Amino acid sequence: MPPTTTDADTAREYLRVSRDKSGRERSPEEQHRDHQGIAAERGWTLGDPYKDIGSASRYAAKAREDFDRLVDDLTADRFDAQVLFLWEGSRGSRRTNEWVRLIELCEDRSVKIFIYTYERLFDPANPYDRADLLELAIKSELASAETSKRTRRAAAATAAAGRPSGRCPYGYQRRYDPVTRKLVAQDEEPIEAAVVRELFDRLHAGHSLRSIEKDFEARGVRSRSGKVFSSQHLRSLAMNPTYSGQRVHDPGRTSGHTLSPKATFTQATWPALVTRTVFLAVRRRLTAPERVTTRPGRAVHLLSMIGVCDVCEGPIAARSGSRGQEYVCHRKGCVRVGYDELNTFAEAAILDYLTRPENQAWWTAHDDDDAALFAAREQVAEIRAELDDLADQVGAGLVSATLAARAEPAIVARLAAAQEREAELTTPAPLRDFLTPGADVVQQWKVAPMPARREAVRLLFSPALCGQLRVRRSPTPGHRSPVEDRVWWKATH
Ligand SMILES: [Zn+2]
Repeated sequence: MPPTTTDADTAREYLRVSRDKSGRERSPEEQHRDHQGIAAERGWTLGDPYKDIGSASRYAAKAREDFDRLVDDLTADRFDAQVLFLWEGSRGSRRTNEWVRLIELCEDRSVKIFIYTYERLFDPANPYDRADLLELAIKSELASAETSKRTRRAAAATAAAGRPSGRCPYGYQRRYDPVTRKLVAQDEEPIEAAVVRELFDRLHAGHSLRSIEKDFEARGVRSRSGKVFSSQHLRSLAMNPTYSGQRVHDPGRTSGHTLSPKATFTQATWPALVTRTVFLAVRRRLTAPERVTTRPGRAVHLLSMIGVCDVCEGPIAARSGSRGQEYVCHRKGCVRVGYDELNTFAEAAILDYLTRPENQAWWTAHDDDDAALFAAREQVAEIRAELDDLADQVGAGLVSATLAARAEPAIVARLAAAQEREAELTTPAPLRDFLTPGADVVQQWKVAPMPARREAVRLLFSPALCGQLRVRRSPTPGHRSPVEDRVWWKATH
């Protein structure tokens, strides 16, 4: 038996922006006009409508307040009408469970559902009508999931084509087609682009973020929102591959600039503001381990926290004592060795390595900055910071030395693994930042700043290259033995 209503019935509409079969948007006003025609035909009175603007998709985050009001009214018996008017089947809700609830509420209150696009009145109390309504809900949930999947695929495709997406980055402006409103291009914004270029040039020349921050502030250089650039903000600009004309797509990214292994890079369609070489050099500088440390004195010694005690596998560190300056096992003091002696020995080894003809090709090899390398470098920096943190906590009395000694080996082991991975992936970029192959390597090394030299040492004294620099105990206790007899190189194989 077909559901019936009487002439005296009141119908209330639930309206939300929708698309018709041709993809054209049907506004709530248009839907209302459609409904008026039906109501006149059937002799219904239209009551106060419920009206939402957002999408009903479960993948949409927007609140749909009037839908909730409709459900509340039905629940509390405030609906005061015999018909619920929907423009199309999926309008009720695209979440099947919400839709089922709505159908049940309508059934309990003897409210029938009219769906305009089907030109049909459904009675939820009728099992056949009910089955049809449920089928509509399942179909529309499926359609919604497919749309969401298509959107994600479209984002990946946009990235693969190097097209811009998201907010327009500082330094650029976007041009849109005046008719279709479609994005035509992302061009330089001349004033902002000049700021970006200056930032990179100065970081590349060795200026600190702090000094650039102060200078920008004094000169009235401001962000797009009119704020003073903080060093943190400047750092994030300098780390953004956008400026080297690279499009990054990283569906696995969880936070900040740490790229996930899923990250992909493509050549962007917008112009680069800095060369890849400058971008990479600046990025290396900003992620260099020397940057992570907060204690300024740490970077003055060539081999501190790089050389390893052969007895306990802990790092060695420079220390001044009664016997003058020495490198000492940092953890337990198992070994001590002359400071100048060990520096001279290590530098000779490095210069020997760099001047060997078979290493020239490796050293000048082409740069490779894929996401895996970035990820590895950041992991090394993080573990190193963790280790420094532990040392600081012991120093501040927050953690006992015993507890720290127990925790340290595991961290050191993780650090070694991460470094090995980094060395595997890295080309000798840290060296090229301050050494020009073919020129007088010895002279260039002598004038290089300590952080740069340390970065080179860290790279070269990794197990995958020269090997770890390990200091043994003196073979004749109480006597000084030459440093050559005390040091060996531990390589991976
Ligand atoms: Zn030791």
